[in-house]
Amino acid sequence: MLTLDRPKATAPLAPVRPHAVIIGSGFGGLAAAVRLGARGYRVTVLEKLATPGGRAIVHRQDGFTFDAGPTIVTAPFLFEELWALCGRKMSDDVDLRPITPFYQIRFADGALFNVTADRAAMRAEVAKFNPADVAGYQRFMACSEAIYQTGFEKLGDVPFDTPMDMLRIAGDLVRLEGYRSVYGLVAKFFKDERLRTVFSFHPLLIGGSPFRATAVYCLISFLEQRFGVHFAMGGTGELVKGLCGLIARQGGAVRCKAEVSEILVDKGAAVGVRLASGETLQADIVVSNADSAWTYRKLLPPSQRRRWSDRKLDKAKYSMGLFVWYFGVDRRYDDVEHHTILLGPRYRALLRDIFERKILADDFSLYLHRPTATDPSLAPEGCDAFYVLSPVPNLEGGQDWSELAEGYRRKIADALEATVLPDLGRHIVTSRIATPQTFHDTLNSYRGAGFGLEPILTQSAWFRPHNRSEELRNLFLVGAGTHPGAGLPGVLSSAKVLDRIAPDVRVFNHA
Ligand SMILES: Cc1cc2nc3c(=O)[nH]c(=O)nc-3n(C[C@H](O)[C@H](O)[C@H](O)COP(=O)(O)OP(=O)(O)OC[C@H]3O[C@@H](n4cnc5c(N)ncnc54)[C@H](O)[C@@H]3O)c2cc1C
Repeated sequence: MLTLDRPKATAPLAPVRPHAVIIGSGFGGLAAAVRLGARGYRVTVLEKLATPGGRAIVHRQDGFTFDAGPTIVTAPFLFEELWALCGRKMSDDVDLRPITPFYQIRFADGALFNVTADRAAMRAEVAKFNPADVAGYQRFMACSEAIYQTGFEKLGDVPFDTPMDMLRIAGDLVRLEGYRSVYGLVAKFFKDERLRTVFSFHPLLIGGSPFRATAVYCLISFLEQRFGVHFAMGGTGELVKGLCGLIARQGGAVRCKAEVSEILVDKGAAVGVRLASGETLQADIVVSNADSAWTYRKLLPPSQRRRWSDRKLDKAKYSMGLFVWYFGVDRRYDDVEHHTILLGPRYRALLRDIFERKILADDFSLYLHRPTATDPSLAPEGCDAFYVLSPVPNLEGGQDWSELAEGYRRKIADALEATVLPDLGRHIVTSRIATPQTFHDTLNSYRGAGFGLEPILTQSAWFRPHNRSEELRNLFLVGAGTHPGAGLPGVLSSAKVLDRIAPDVRVFNHA
């Protein structure tokens, strides 16, 4: 539940509401806007693009609706809290439906593993691959729950401002073996290599390699099982629309086509922003939901930065890039689940190619989204909307995507046609592509990373750019590049951290 450590204030409410400017309208920015609006701030969200949502922007073309990014909604209570802050229920605006199976994992040899909330069904799935691992599965889920209780419930929405905050959790980190990688911890519980994959791939959902991300992310298995996997009817864009509606009801504003070019500083404090158009906006607090590396590198001059110097940002490790192909077909593939993960022949070696060698391999693993399995209204009648996502190196790999994209798309289309989408080539009626270059150019994503800074232990909690900026007073960060990290639960939690640390409106004297 929501607990707030708000600064005590004795002065009466300021007659003119203090102004919070939020840079970016990703889920982190929108959630921050709702929380600050509920605190009494006058909120202006400034978004570079023509429509809000950030990675969750919606593409509509040829009668198809494509959510650009997040599709798997976990921890729905984090959304529910935002509606509750406005005296409403999420169901007033959004029809969120549980999905089962959560996802189907398809191995290169055609073997299938359905992930669901049903423990007995899960034990049966595990037994299909290796009966001897059923006991390990039970122990793994107990371990995942313990990590969830500490990593998510206790630490997910608290600020990490000082090294002491990190020291405070050192014992928990050691006890929960957070120093291991996700794969390293999972391998303790499962002997079968395929089961190790099933229970360790989750960091890829937030931009990390299972072989490098801290084992704290093993909490995702429990989180999914406890709260389910959901889909918003009409698409994830309905959640974006719902949050923008809450902001409007609070009297806040979401301004699109309003790119911020500079955070304005006076005597060590953020005091406003300058837009690319030259317009300036005064602010009592500035919250950046833009990529954290981009925020520091491009919006604050080096002279204003002590911790996040260009050198430190250059040396940091960034999450993988994403190649996403959105396509519509003039038929339905009714035996394809809403969420399918198609694993290629290699796991560890492929991830090494992506994260360490930064080469574009010939093989790939894919996530296939078929939202029309749940909501046929997202495509014309009798049609299916899809997107397929392939983790690829970020722009540090030096790939020229203007040259590579079409060939890579065709290779993926062939792989899908040979497996789950027979005759695909004959049925495509609409298509669009996003590459790491797109992420860089449209979303201001540093190095074209799909999820901001990579989620490794040495870039987590206090080691990540802080929610309360280390550089300026009255500058705050929310979103994937700050604590706790990427993914919808992560960025919504970052707004909860902000709620704890943003000044009470009564400390501003605008009388
Ligand atoms: C393809 C894909 C699939 C995903 N699938 C899932 C999933 O199924 N489930 C899940 O939980 N997570 C998923 N994720 C991760 C999740 O979508 C992200 O971590 C999350 O949405 C990021 O939110 P954010 O608050 O960090 O903001 P972002 O979505 O990154 O938005 C930041 C916004 O800031 C704007 N901006 C940047 N610079 C400026 C500027 N100077 N001025 C004004 N505006 C600016 C950008 O235009 C953008 O709109 C997925 C991500 C991708 C890319």
